[in-house]
Amino acid sequence: MIRLEELLFPSTADVAVLSVDVDIEIVRVDAQCTAAGATCPGCGAWSIRVHRSYLRFPGDVPSAGRSVVLRLRGRRFRCEISVCPRRTFVGKSPA
Ligand SMILES: [Zn+2]
Repeated sequence: MIRLEELLFPSTADVAVLSVDVDIEIVRVDAQCTAAGATCPGCGAWSIRVHRSYLRFPGDVPSAGRSVVLRLRGRRFRCEISVCPRRTFVGKSPA
């Protein structure tokens, strides 16, 4: 049986579906990244310090005639290397 995460985010395994709310006309899916951290694109250092998180609404999710509202919680990380020009950066996004 295919998992919902694999259907919605076939390019990555680092996503967890938190909740699915099925209505007559609409399907709401809440998901978030599960990776512990991300690699800074400026210096290559690994960071687990979350600067902030935010909601994204990626479009075009497969559905069977219903509207699908996908809410994906993304994260912005803080680079801890003091000489790195990138103070913060967005973690790898699955969608
Ligand atoms: Zn950096």
